Amino acid sequence: MMNTPLVLHGLIDRAEKYFPKKKIISRTHSKIHRLTYKEVAERTRRLASSLETLGVKRGDRVGTLAWNHHRHLEAYFAIPCMGAVLHTINIRLSPQDLIYVINHAEDQVLLIDEDILPLIEAIKDQLTTVKKFVVMSDETSLPASTIESLYSYEQLIAAGDPDFSYPDDIGENDPLGMCYTSATTGKPKGVVYTHRGIVLHSMALGLADTTGISESDVCMPVVPMFHVNAWGTPFAATWFGTTQVLPGPAFTPKLLAELIQNEKVTITAGVPTIWLGLLKELEAGSYDMSSLRGILCGGSAAPKGMIRAFEEKHKIPFYHAYGMTETTPLALYSRLKSYQSDLTGEERLEVLAKQGIVVPGLDVKIVNENGEVDWDGETMGELLIRGPWIASEYYRDDRTSDSFKDGWLYTGDIATIDEEGNVKLVDRTKDVIKSGGEWISSVDLENVLMAHEAVFEAAVVAVPHPKWQERPVACVVLKEKYKDNVTKEELLDYLRPQFAKWWLPDDIVFLDEIPKTSVGKFLKMALRDQLRQHLSV
Ligand code: AMP
Repeated sequence: MMNTPLVLHGLIDRAEKYFPKKKIISRTHSKIHRLTYKEVAERTRRLASSLETLGVKRGDRVGTLAWNHHRHLEAYFAIPCMGAVLHTINIRLSPQDLIYVINHAEDQVLLIDEDILPLIEAIKDQLTTVKKFVVMSDETSLPASTIESLYSYEQLIAAGDPDFSYPDDIGENDPLGMCYTSATTGKPKGVVYTHRGIVLHSMALGLADTTGISESDVCMPVVPMFHVNAWGTPFAATWFGTTQVLPGPAFTPKLLAELIQNEKVTITAGVPTIWLGLLKELEAGSYDMSSLRGILCGGSAAPKGMIRAFEEKHKIPFYHAYGMTETTPLALYSRLKSYQSDLTGEERLEVLAKQGIVVPGLDVKIVNENGEVDWDGETMGELLIRGPWIASEYYRDDRTSDSFKDGWLYTGDIATIDEEGNVKLVDRTKDVIKSGGEWISSVDLENVLMAHEAVFEAAVVAVPHPKWQERPVACVVLKEKYKDNVTKEELLDYLRPQFAKWWLPDDIVFLDEIPKTSVGKFLKMALRDQLRQHLSV
């Protein structure tokens, strides 16, 4: 067989050649843009040529701080197709973590949405490698800013070469992009995606037994393009010539419902928090959702009640999937097998609420101290994954050996596997708190709390939350002499300058002691139960 390289520019070339009239519908602050793949492909070449003029070279990292819109999509292709590396940066990181990831990746240029500019202005003096900043806005004029080397995206597009040729010697194992994932302890960890990994993952998204994204779809990723590349949907959808709807900044459930109705979206993707919001909106208003063939949900466990409401009340099929930054992300996909089609009610929901079976191309196993666990749906172990779109290391990080061993990724997720091969996540090894699809490290909060002079011990655990899925609650044991004179407000005021706002615990509960394991570690399972009773959640 021929060994033609699996590289990204083949994806956008195909869209331009075979689907030039198909649309990208993109919402920005000022309006909804409707561009064709022909226009987007040309703008992508112009952007690549302008970035080259700005000094971007092969292998250089170019960061993006942007919402889901057509300019971000153009950057998704221009940067890797010119041989540079697309670093999508989570705009919700704390200033300290933003500085860390930008410096650690050694980003040379940053492409920034206008509303995110103040975030970068505040930290610009601590960015050690960035030479040029590009503001992405509908205007060609530059906004007032304290940043000196600031360029206008639209001016770069206008000045760019529409006939720019991408280099033809990019190797399939060359880096295409990178994304940092929050760590439970310490700084975020970087994952580098190769061209080959992204192309194979895109193919996996097109399989009928997974999301089955195809030309006939209208695909709306609500999951941010800075969260594992919007789960890879922009790459796959472009390849297949799929109409894309990019919902832009500061969207609301109402706006999403309107976009689905007006643009006749067939498949949309996001974390459970988004779908809880949409459900509420559907209860309140009257919308035509009949175009939807499915809602793809991942990032944290989809609650059964939510699946039931979408499927039974709104007649919208619900696709539950599992993945991680390290797995590009699609790894598990929940669906009934053909011979289970007669399952109804609770039995059916029970299967759909699991994370599902491994997608074609990957292998999984679940291991505990006795080796690989039986397929009994009960025995717990850590989920391990391997395959061609699974990372093999963290970028320049000595925590690599904790997660990558013997050719497998150790996910840190505790799971069971049933007789059909369906994996069900039961807990996380590290007790990280998932709030609205983002991670909050309990250990980081604990460490800072325990640095307070009045605090003897502190453990932070997740409690269920109707909107954000989970929120942190801190359990604090005060030192004897402070027992009656420290309030939760004082401790929150102390935490406030040290963390992003959404990291702050929703509550601080004072306890006499924190339950512990035999080796003196916090017994968080017991603590969570105790808290649930205390808070009646
Ligand atoms: P991230 O790298 O931010 O995408 O987070 C990956 C983690 O999210 C996984 O290790 C799981 O703990 C969790 N996760 C992802 N998808 C699911 C899901 N469908 N159900 C439960 N947890 C999930």
